Amino acid sequence: MNRLAGKVTMVTGAGRGIGAAIALAFAREGAAVALAELDIDTARATAERIESEVGGARVLAVRTDVTQSAQVKEAVEHVEASLGPVDVLVNNAGINVFCDPLTMTDDDWRRCFAVDLDGVWNGCRAVLPGMVARGSGSIVNIASTHAFKIIPGCFPYPVAKHGVIGLTRALGIEYAPNNVRVNAIAPGYIETQLTLDWWDSQADPKAARAATLNLQPMKRIGQPQEVAMTAVFLASDEAPFINASCITVDGGRSALYHD
Ligand code: NDP
Repeated sequence: MNRLAGKVTMVTGAGRGIGAAIALAFAREGAAVALAELDIDTARATAERIESEVGGARVLAVRTDVTQSAQVKEAVEHVEASLGPVDVLVNNAGINVFCDPLTMTDDDWRRCFAVDLDGVWNGCRAVLPGMVARGSGSIVNIASTHAFKIIPGCFPYPVAKHGVIGLTRALGIEYAPNNVRVNAIAPGYIETQLTLDWWDSQADPKAARAATLNLQPMKRIGQPQEVAMTAVFLASDEAPFINASCITVDGGRSALYHD
């Protein structure tokens, strides 16, 4: 409790899934939380849930499309006017774009990078001037184990997620002298709508789910709150010397060569 007391935080894609879990965990730890989300209805629903579960929570839902740099800048200005300077930004919004490289359309390539990489940069660019000026801040980018492991047929999502790690490392080094830390989290399979949709897109969703679970060393996939607990740690003052780094949250899956 209160590991983030007094901090103003902003989480993109916070209407559901991992983003919603991070926003709830931040509020439980005493942070004011801005939910920056494409779908304002899901953001408001998450805000109501947080308010009902966390007494006295300061929560703000802001409609934001992370692909639009001007919208992200405006959202940050709105949050700062309402809640105060942003101490912590979590760039969580992301989409799966899984294609065969040579049949992928230009549009598939562009929409993947627009959300999964440009979206992260747009968030960083909007909060960094204030963080640098204040001499403190923490940015947490939600990458993926696809940032260092490849599954055939999942192109170009892993290319964008590799980019998220590069961006994290570059900005972490660039602004370390200003006491601004930039880190990433690489989740493995986490049970969210994104994952359910992927299973449903397979010829036999039940068999696809069973195959996924069987690949996991812990014989289960992760829960959104298990990523959220790592985000709390990285965002908090408990991780002052962790910078330009990435924490993997995948139950050991990416360390496994084969059974
Ligand atoms: P979900 O699809 O459940 O949630 C993603 C959220 O991001 C949705 O609320 C979505 O809004 C929002 N969003 C999408 N596009 C935009 C945009 N342009 N601007 C603002 N918000 C947007 O995904 P997860 O919670 O599963 O994933 C969250 C992050 O974690 C992503 O970056 C994903 O790549 C990463 N990740 C997830 C894993 C998993 O197994 N679930 C594994 C590894 C990484 P809307 O519903 O309106 O589209």
